[in-house]
Amino acid sequence: MPEKLEIAVFCDFDGTVTKLDIGDELFKNFGEFEPYHTDLRNGRLNIRDYWKILCSSLRHDVDKEKLESFASEIEVDPYFEQFVRFCNNNSIPVAILSDGFDVYIEPVLRKLGLEEMKVFCNKMIFNGKSAIVPNYKYASESCECLCASCKRNAMLEYVDDETIIVFAGDDYSDFCAAEHSDIVFAKKKLAAWCNEKRIPHYPYSNFFDVMRILKKLIEGKKLKIRHQAKIKRMKAFETE
Ligand SMILES: [Zn+2]
Repeated sequence: MPEKLEIAVFCDFDGTVTKLDIGDELFKNFGEFEPYHTDLRNGRLNIRDYWKILCSSLRHDVDKEKLESFASEIEVDPYFEQFVRFCNNNSIPVAILSDGFDVYIEPVLRKLGLEEMKVFCNKMIFNGKSAIVPNYKYASESCECLCASCKRNAMLEYVDDETIIVFAGDDYSDFCAAEHSDIVFAKKKLAAWCNEKRIPHYPYSNFFDVMRILKKLIEGKKLKIRHQAKIKRMKAFETE
């Protein structure tokens, strides 16, 4: 690998690192998912109220251990671990950027031996058995995103001006992060949205693709700041 590069990689979690959306699966199994999910998609509920309702819908016999053991059974992208090792071996910081919850992200990373990874996400607070409430560390007033915790804000807090930001995601909550990133890997709804917004992106189906393309970009010295993303980042710093 060439000389040290100022790159930071951020990966969405649900549907990106895992095959299914664990957040959805967890509430389908242990609480109530509908009609709230439809209300969220139709704009009748905002994401912060949505998570609050879903957390309070969790059955009374549900505790942290139950949710953790459920999460650790979920199928993960078979190349994710290899991808993180590749980043580590090349001194590229890599972090999880999720609008889901610590309670299911951490056990998955632990199972992969990646518990040292930096994770930006919402927290599920267990106040005894009666109240499970969400906590949004990176909530944003200025971003028009569909996140409870704004991914853009978490990302920008972590990097400096010179850093080339790489982001991989798949869904609604990834829109603001992708818009502010230099190199975007997109699938499913995020890919469709990037097409619509003319944001250049690499389609991928798993982290082997991401690793292969990133390696090629690094070796070909093709990694660079995306002008439109830089302008957006400067605006974000001004308004936040
Ligand atoms: Zn945002």
